[in-house]
Amino acid sequence: MNNHYELIAIGGGSGGLSVAQRAAAHGARVAVVEKAALGGTCVNAGCVPKKIMWYGAAVAGALRDSADYGFTIEQHGFDWGKLIRQREAYIQGIHSWYQTYLADNHVDEIRGTARFAGEHALDIDGQRYTADHIVISPGGRPLVPDVPGAELGITSDGFFALAGQPEEVAVIGSGYIAVELAGLLNALGSRVTLVLRKHQLLKEFEPMLRETLMEEMQESGVNIITNTSVAGVVEEKSGKLRLECSGGISCAGLDTVIWAIGRVPNTQELGLDAAGVETDGRGFVLTDAWQNTNVAGVYAIGDVTGAAALTPVAIAAGRRLADRLFGGIPESKLEYKNIPTVVFSHPPIGSIGVSEDEARAVHGDAVKVYQTRFTPMYHAFTRHKHITAMKLVCVGAEEKVVGCHIIGLGADEMLQGFAVAINMGATKRDFDSTIAIHPTSAEELVTMR
Ligand code: FAD
Ligand code: NDP
Repeated sequence: MNNHYELIAIGGGSGGLSVAQRAAAHGARVAVVEKAALGGTCVNAGCVPKKIMWYGAAVAGALRDSADYGFTIEQHGFDWGKLIRQREAYIQGIHSWYQTYLADNHVDEIRGTARFAGEHALDIDGQRYTADHIVISPGGRPLVPDVPGAELGITSDGFFALAGQPEEVAVIGSGYIAVELAGLLNALGSRVTLVLRKHQLLKEFEPMLRETLMEEMQESGVNIITNTSVAGVVEEKSGKLRLECSGGISCAGLDTVIWAIGRVPNTQELGLDAAGVETDGRGFVLTDAWQNTNVAGVYAIGDVTGAAALTPVAIAAGRRLADRLFGGIPESKLEYKNIPTVVFSHPPIGSIGVSEDEARAVHGDAVKVYQTRFTPMYHAFTRHKHITAMKLVCVGAEEKVVGCHIIGLGADEMLQGFAVAINMGATKRDFDSTIAIHPTSAEELVTMR
């Protein structure tokens, strides 16, 4: 057996699979090491199962609104178990597809846990492998706080393993995962309390988005408790859980507590010291703009770098790295700016570029903002409504669009095309000169005054 490769990727997730596939396409001898299921977080415990649950929540919303559209529908409940079985069967299909994909793309799969045994050597479950290029792409895992009873709670991983629908849930955290899980559980009929240690959600987003989302979530029935820290979790005699929070706040009668307070990199079992690879204080691997670590021939991509933890970012970084190493494109690297992102909240958020505050901090009075807020036509006569709000942040005399922020029905699908335009340097005038598509919500983005 030849245990030497031109490239080995540690981790068969979004980043590892992409760098391996692209390197193999350029003719390199390549392997991916995976200790769990291929596809990593995105396929098994992230984007994919989350989006299916979100679609389930959308169906619940349509059923709720159906009477307002004239339908008489008798609902006979919601079978959580069936949705989960369908979801897992779909993911199983992706796993089967991977086997053909790897073989077709000439990528070897090595099962096991990789650990550095030198700068260009790995121990994988007792076997020694070497490679000219090693890509560190092991992703991350959810953080659990160090408070008494924390183990009584679950994380997003545990959420995807829930066999039954929780009736009474507390979600702790304020980021993507907290608002997505709280929103979809609420839409599917669970009673949800969202616990924030500060006063706001999604701190890194344009304030208009996070303020609107908070109002919308409360309007939809999510109980949001702000400015409190969870001191511990207690199991009551009834078997229910109770959250004890600062300020004398407690939350009782819970069947599920979900920690959604951020993620940490999977670097602790990699033996990075054996290769001398440097990390920051939190364990994220340090890289330069080319994904190089401090060790020649060792690279890092994806969540383990701590930069924009999104699947398409890991994929793009991996592909560009492979193009640079094996594709004869020495300048190939990912620009970490203008990264569009969607939060699958209720309603969804789509955002690219800088917030108004960030733009003003740099450009002062040269910033001009266009915004609108309206009830989308779908909700014109539904009893339950979600608002839509949009903001364009423009800079300079030419009014270059440097930020586009949307919350509302369809924002998730709306953003991608606008992201292309903004990436190309579009100005407000370019937006204005584009013929609107009517009747849509998106047309507001090209007709704002
Ligand atoms: P991962 O996909 O995590 O892959 C790392 C792989 O490495 C894993 O399979 C792991 O088992 C393996 N591994 C780790 N250590 C070793 C080792 N020592 N040896 C061998 N194998 C190892 N992003 C989006 O763009 N859109 C979304 O809607 C979205 N939703 C999300 C929802 C949730 C709940 C979560 C948690 C994340 C979500 N993300 C989303 C983020 C996205 O999943 C990650 O950014 C992406 O998966 C990162 O890819 P990666 O290759 O860096 O790591
Ligand atoms: P995030 O980093 O998005 O948010 C976590 C937040 O939780 C922190 O910003 C902090 O906000 C709050 N927090 C931290 N510690 C505590 C604590 N002890 N108690 C209460 N709150 C706390 O992390 P997530 O886990 O939500 O998601 C990780 C990453 O995964 C995301 O950043 C994103 O890149 C990716 N992801 C992408 C998705 C998508 O594309 N749709 C969906 C899901 C995840 P504060 O300081 O305000 O309290």
